[in-house]
Amino acid sequence: MKKEITAKTKLIGLIGSPIEHSISPSMQNEALAQAGLDYVYVAFNVGLETLEQTIEGFKAMNVRGWNITMPDKNRMCQLADKLSPVAQICGAVNTIVNDNGVLTGHTTDGIGYVEGIRASGYDIKDKVITLLGAGGAATAILAQAAYDGASEIHVFNRADEFYTHVEKTAEVLNQRTDCRITVHPLEDDSALRTSIQNSDILSNATNVGMAPDTDKCLIADPSYFHPGLIVTDAIYHPYETKLIQMAKEYGCPVVGGLYMQLFQGAASFELWTGRKMPVEIVNEKYFHLDIKL
Ligand code: NAD
Repeated sequence: MKKEITAKTKLIGLIGSPIEHSISPSMQNEALAQAGLDYVYVAFNVGLETLEQTIEGFKAMNVRGWNITMPDKNRMCQLADKLSPVAQICGAVNTIVNDNGVLTGHTTDGIGYVEGIRASGYDIKDKVITLLGAGGAATAILAQAAYDGASEIHVFNRADEFYTHVEKTAEVLNQRTDCRITVHPLEDDSALRTSIQNSDILSNATNVGMAPDTDKCLIADPSYFHPGLIVTDAIYHPYETKLIQMAKEYGCPVVGGLYMQLFQGAASFELWTGRKMPVEIVNEKYFHLDIKL
């Protein structure tokens, strides 16, 4: 279906650098066309040095909204007028909605994670989660899952700059939500093993296992798993990480990173347009996931 661009067509953008690899323009334009919405979604290679000028330009032109990818996510968060509760905790945004010059920042990665699990036939409400990681993706998952009713989240991370940061995030979320969050060193293998044994969901949100290091995995072997444990990975390159492969072989239900990617896009689409993304069509064309809507 070829889209006719007219003088009334509204613009949605994607900013970051590099940007050329992104699937977002393809999936969002397909969704907009299928939904019969008169918008176009265009990617702009914008680094930190020209971010503020770009935002001023977007505001002057009344661009409806935009996605933000690295390296602009944290700075964009500071430039927003308002933030969703999860974006405020993350200190980073991947989506801006522009209401006539008032910019509201959202983080849809966590929504994408939760919705991806739901579309796979599961739910995070009242669940116990072991979360590996404390970076951008992990913090978005942590905050969204805490707000969406997970009962306990046990975070494991190595002793790097992310560790002290996630301890502070956990403190805030423990005050603001009913979820009980604890933080542990990844090196504490016995605590990790016990946490996974007592969890409903094991979630990897670190880089470990991402291409080109596809033979890496933070879980040494399948003895950490138990029947019914839902194993998820934020990584989508490769589509099936070593963790996901190992869990599948063991017989665990699995949810790979492409689910999170599809549904974070769907959440942004809804924030800009007020309409549900036609997820089945986008999935059929670009993702080929087994989803139950
Ligand atoms: P980040 O740099 O913010 O965080 C990296 C995390 O990995 C930190 O917790 C760090 O401690 C941990 N880590 C890195 N190397 C490690 C090692 N050798 N041992 C133990 N821990 C290690 O990165 P991010 O933005 O959070 O991205 C993490 C992954 O999530 C990437 O693969 C990214 O592509 C993916 N991601 C996926 C989606 C999606 O939609 N599916 C969205 C965002 C990010």
